[in-house]
Amino acid sequence: MLYESTRGLSDRVGAAQAIREGLAPDGGLYVPERIPVFRTEEMAAFVELGYQEQAGRILSEYLAEFTPEEVAYCTRAAYGAGKFADPRIAPLRALGDGSYILELWHGPTYAFKDMALQMLPHLLRLSVQKTGGAAEVVVLVATSGDTGKAALEGFKDVPGTSIIVFFPLEGVSEVQKRQMVTQEGSNTYVLAVAGNFDDAQAGVKEIFADQELKRRLEARGKEFSSANSINWGRLLPQIVYYFAAYAALLQKGAVQPGDKINFAVPTGNFGNILAGFYAREMGLPVKKFILAANANNVLSEFVRTGVYDRRRPFYRTVCPSMDILVSSNLERLLFELTGRDALRISEWMQELEQNGVYGVDGTTLGRVQEIFWSDWASDAAALTAIKETYSRYGYLLDPHTAVACAVYERYRDAAGDATTTVVVSTASPFKFNRDVARALLGEEAASTHDEFALPEILSKYTGWPVPPGLQGLDAKPVRHRRVLRREEMRDAVAEILGV
Ligand SMILES: *Cc1c(COP(=O)(O)O)cnc(C)c1O
Repeated sequence: MLYESTRGLSDRVGAAQAIREGLAPDGGLYVPERIPVFRTEEMAAFVELGYQEQAGRILSEYLAEFTPEEVAYCTRAAYGAGKFADPRIAPLRALGDGSYILELWHGPTYAFKDMALQMLPHLLRLSVQKTGGAAEVVVLVATSGDTGKAALEGFKDVPGTSIIVFFPLEGVSEVQKRQMVTQEGSNTYVLAVAGNFDDAQAGVKEIFADQELKRRLEARGKEFSSANSINWGRLLPQIVYYFAAYAALLQKGAVQPGDKINFAVPTGNFGNILAGFYAREMGLPVKKFILAANANNVLSEFVRTGVYDRRRPFYRTVCPSMDILVSSNLERLLFELTGRDALRISEWMQELEQNGVYGVDGTTLGRVQEIFWSDWASDAAALTAIKETYSRYGYLLDPHTAVACAVYERYRDAAGDATTTVVVSTASPFKFNRDVARALLGEEAASTHDEFALPEILSKYTGWPVPPGLQGLDAKPVRHRRVLRREEMRDAVAEILGV
């Protein structure tokens, strides 16, 4: 199985090379040249498998150069004993109204990024070994919060790697920030950037494109790689839980083999929902993906109109991990939906870069709308969903998942579609406790305590236990204090790496 670039100007490469490089040399994203398809019986047989085995089945289809032992090593390293707080890894809970919640936040940092970032370091290390790469991989990450911590936890003290994380000073919660600046590990660097996520991401893209820096690095036996959701090694592990959710529904008797279901996905960079799209291309019977956005509703508008227009105000919302205006992974979807028309993709991406906007043709928009439905929810709507879901079902949503629930409810009413639906839950409510407390206890009660005291208060109120890693966070020593302007990012990296 080879991988090609969405811009069509790079050579086809194996999985190891695609994972090692992250971004293709022509600026495009790597996609598998063909998508393996599972038969209905094969998917039904997933019911008999544990999560690690399910992951192994899917990964081995895409990783031709990896031995079965290597794939098993990766799935064990990521999802083996002690890694996730729930042995089912991604448990599915019935909400009581015919919908289900897929909890993707039982990993070490309590958000769904762990699903991929517990595996990526192992895939990356093996990939570099297989392709005769440098002795040390330097991972650069721009993060809106959750990715940073999850990547740091994934790479911490993994030999032959180091990791540099940039987070925007504006747009991460106190807890997220504290989780990152207290990061341990001898190979971890955390830097704050004055600005928002897009500033940090643009800065990282520039560093990746800097040929001179690359040469200096090479001379020292080092090379850059990416842990952002553009890396195929990030996307691949995320395909697994869509199949796992379907198997769990089969097991509960909620669906029969072949029955279609919907997924509602809180979306930012379009990574999570794109993995779902690949699962659907692989044969998973999905009727609609309900793409849930917040006030940064660039993707909702795109699904509705076919115009992607990033020239709009940037809002900070109660779901910081969805506060994004450039959803990089959309490029992969467009590549697939245009019948792999690299020339057109290149034109659209160039228009986006130059003018901040592009529009797709009617045929492509039609294909998008066949598979996706979208709307967005305001902060107030998200907080209402938290309160109502708790009072109706005793279930506590985080703000990102609440956006998905609110948008799903609108979809059900608008489309009159009663298809079994899985809401993809992306964070523990304790991670974004300030806004969960505002929703549940009211503004006043929430504002009298800081974010480090609120978990206990929420726990007392709901009976839900505080996750161990979020206890005593304020007492941990700060190890990373540096704040940069975007223009200073490149020099900071050079300095850290001694080149
Ligand atoms: C990253 C993240 C999202 C958005 O996922 P994308 O793959 O970027 O679309 C949603 N919720 C949470 C909690 C996240 O961490």
